Amino acid sequence: MKTIAEISAELQGYDPQALSCTDVNLFLSKLVESSVLPATATENLKLFDALGRVLAEDIVSPISVPPHDNSAMDGYAFDGSQLRAGEPLTLKLVGTAMAGQAWQGTAAPGECVKIMTGAIMPRGLDTVVPQEFVTGGESVTIAAGLIKRGDNRRLLGEDLLKGSAALQKGELFTPAALGLTASLGIETVKVQRKLRVAYFSTGDEILSLGEAPREGAVYDSNRYTVFGLLTRMGCEVIDLGVVRDEPDLLEAAFLDAAEQADAIITSGGVSVGAADYTKAMMNKLGDVAFWKIAMRPGRPMAVGRILYDKYASSPREIIVNSYINSSRRISENVVNVDVKSASGPKSAILFGLPGNPVAVMVTFLAFVRPALLQMMGSTATTPPLLKAKSAEAIRKKPGRTEYQRGIVSRAPNGSLQVRITGNQGSGVLSSMVQANGLIVLHHDQGNVGAGDEVDVMMFDGVI
Ligand code: AMP
Ligand code: MG
Repeated sequence: MKTIAEISAELQGYDPQALSCTDVNLFLSKLVESSVLPATATENLKLFDALGRVLAEDIVSPISVPPHDNSAMDGYAFDGSQLRAGEPLTLKLVGTAMAGQAWQGTAAPGECVKIMTGAIMPRGLDTVVPQEFVTGGESVTIAAGLIKRGDNRRLLGEDLLKGSAALQKGELFTPAALGLTASLGIETVKVQRKLRVAYFSTGDEILSLGEAPREGAVYDSNRYTVFGLLTRMGCEVIDLGVVRDEPDLLEAAFLDAAEQADAIITSGGVSVGAADYTKAMMNKLGDVAFWKIAMRPGRPMAVGRILYDKYASSPREIIVNSYINSSRRISENVVNVDVKSASGPKSAILFGLPGNPVAVMVTFLAFVRPALLQMMGSTATTPPLLKAKSAEAIRKKPGRTEYQRGIVSRAPNGSLQVRITGNQGSGVLSSMVQANGLIVLHHDQGNVGAGDEVDVMMFDGVI
């Protein structure tokens, strides 16, 4: 396990006070790479239970799909070598091949077999003429130039050949992958166990749902967006509620989180000058870097590991009980999970996100999501950015990455266009609801003119 200092030293020009987004991704990828990961724990699941999971081994096809050459159409099967350019062909009907019931005879030259879609191609026949292309009854005539040899025949193994890897370790088990696996006759698959991610919100001004509003206080929204984002990724979520700015409570929350989870996501308390204990506690209990990232929104962030061993001196029950009793945890959201069983020192990767609700979502998408996918053993990559024409001019300072909430639509001429949702404030969560993607204005990019192309990260399929 490399320390934060060791990883930092590997990055050229590492400046925690002005880190580029690219460096954040690079840092996190090195951090995950050098951590004790849960990826070795696997489970065998029935297909219906495996949707969205990460495959822990290749799925090798035990059969060829399709298992035989078969017809792609309802029509007449014949030996295509008899076709002559510019000439019609007349064939005598000698039998019928049904799907699931092969025709056992042998057709001689000049003969054909009526065949249904999916039926095995009779011996020696390699071409199917669809039934609507022919005339006749006892014998059928194919007009010149309608059909080529091999038409409308599906070949044995054209989908998958026996012994080949149908799906690879690290792939996400999508609806298409489910179907493909079923087509091989495979009932169970080996997948990585779910990644366990604990999260809590911090801040004395943060109210849990159910609490009465009071002046200066806001309802906690970050736990809900983080819950949704994690659930969409197929993580096991451990909701630790809202934690007040008190050292004992924060310490207990980090203890609880580090013991159970592979990763911890907090929100709030990482900005400069914040009058809170979150940063101090991260420092006490872990190996953590505090950054200012050259981005907007989402400038402050803390990243590192919470080291469970640092708790060795604390009597766990007392701390956790005092925390449970006094924190504003919402009990129905709490998932009870087994204590994690990784060998070696227990630690959890920490993502200390800023407090502002839009900044939480943006930093999650830009940094946390790729890092969690890597932790899950997934080889999935972030979907490619789309190009769309900006409907308006956007002011942008070079030297930082900006994520603006955008609405992508089709312009009357058919090209993609994007306009920004109104107020781009980092606390304006309604902008995330209206948007269907994030306009990514890259580090070195300057002002955008109306009609210029910009990159967009679409939400669909991601959140
Ligand atoms: P902080 O980073 O703790 O200084 O918080 C920055 C801003 O985000 C403040 O206006 C907070 O009130 C707000 N904020 C922090 N946490 C949450 C949360 N869980 N839900 C909604 N707003 C929050
Ligand atoms: Mg705060």
